[in-house]
Amino acid sequence: MTNSRNNDCKAFREELPDLVLTANSRPSLAAIAHMRACPPCAEEYLSFQSTFAALDSWNAPGPSAYFDQKLAVRIREEQAAPRMSWLESLRMRLLFNTGRSFRPIVVGALGLALVVGGGGIAGINYSNVSRAPQASATVNDLQILDRNEQAFQQLDELQQDDDGGTQAMPTSTGDEAPAAPPAS
Ligand SMILES: [Zn+2]
Repeated sequence: MTNSRNNDCKAFREELPDLVLTANSRPSLAAIAHMRACPPCAEEYLSFQSTFAALDSWNAPGPSAYFDQKLAVRIREEQAAPRMSWLESLRMRLLFNTGRSFRPIVVGALGLALVVGGGGIAGINYSNVSRAPQASATVNDLQILDRNEQAFQQLDELQQDDDGGTQAMPTSTGDEAPAAPPAS
């Protein structure tokens, strides 16, 4: 029972703004029926109605008789005033703005920080990524040969270590995996 009543209240409240704000509007039959059954909604409707009736009877004070003249004088003063330098106008903007105009800049900066920081966390090295396409096929082949040379050197060192009987690890980093020789 209370659930259907809540739904009725919801429907009534959706109708209420139109009812109150539209001049000479009459509540629908469903709305009248609901107001009969639901005193809080009826009270709300009546209070809105009396509030807007009071607002309708209120006359806003008009502008002073000299408003247009004063405005024209202010505009002429502004036009005659020396123009601000761009630095000064920027300063005025910073002083008097509401912060709304800087939101896109802040969002962009945060996005950039996220992209850069996220890449750092994910371990993506953008300098390597951007450098890779610049190398020509010849350079790539030479680099692969170079890496193979290093790999053979490391193998030789390992063999020497084994022959010498020491268990020392090779000093070079094992990060770079030896690439396959270029298919000729
Ligand atoms: Zn109600």
